[in-house]
Amino acid sequence: MTALSIGALLHEGKAKRVHATDRPDVAAVEYKDDATAFNALKKASLPGKGALNCRISALLFEHLAGRGVPTHFLGVLDELWMVVRPVRVIPVEVVVRNIAAGSLCRQLPLEAGTPLDPPLIDLYYKDDALGDPLLSEARLERLELVSAEQLATMRDLALTVNRELRELFAAVGLELVDFKIELGFDAEGRILLADEISPDTCRLWDRATADQQERILDKDRFRQDLGGVIEAYGEVLKRVQGVCPPPRVYG
Ligand code: UDP
Repeated sequence: MTALSIGALLHEGKAKRVHATDRPDVAAVEYKDDATAFNALKKASLPGKGALNCRISALLFEHLAGRGVPTHFLGVLDELWMVVRPVRVIPVEVVVRNIAAGSLCRQLPLEAGTPLDPPLIDLYYKDDALGDPLLSEARLERLELVSAEQLATMRDLALTVNRELRELFAAVGLELVDFKIELGFDAEGRILLADEISPDTCRLWDRATADQQERILDKDRFRQDLGGVIEAYGEVLKRVQGVCPPPRVYG
């Protein structure tokens, strides 16, 4: 098979760049070392983060695909690049929470660490200028971004991703506290899991330690200036690749 040529930059986000390729039905995503938090008020470059998140996302997309979750992932290209099915991203961030943390505890009288059973699903309108506001069902309906049926599909997918990833992470001693996913429509109008799934977008706690700072193996290390961000992401990768087969290589 001929090598894929990378084309025009289609979109640059805070942590990734999406490029067209010489194939209309294929896009390429480059993972950056840039780290941002608090709606990009806090910024840094963390050498090695892009490669770690690319690898972790690839492993998790592959695992989920094997469990019947439709994803945009088509394979890895090299350590910073993955190949994906282009999608029209639905501007709704779907957050699933198994344990209270982060913004939930700032907004509601819930103590960090409170178990949430059943898991809580929060929807946010993806718009940096508006600060990604929390959506009500009525507001989402008013925006006419998705039909009621598509919303039901999005929720079902989010809960399936939660079930599968919780089980996977638990098998390697990690607690999946919460995570954010993004979904998009492919050319046939199917809803696919898109974006990334990595310690940038998940809260993961090491079950082996009760220390409330030491157990953090995700972007909260960066948000809270705890140091050891790359080491934590590396630990997540080491554990996940210990139980997941290597992801497909594109081409
Ligand atoms: N999250 C994300 N991108 C966002 C907002 C949240 O990936 O723009 C992830 C975050 O890393 C965490 C989960 O979604 O795993 C829930 O985040 P929360 O609403 O608690 O917000 P935060 O505390 O990060 O401000």
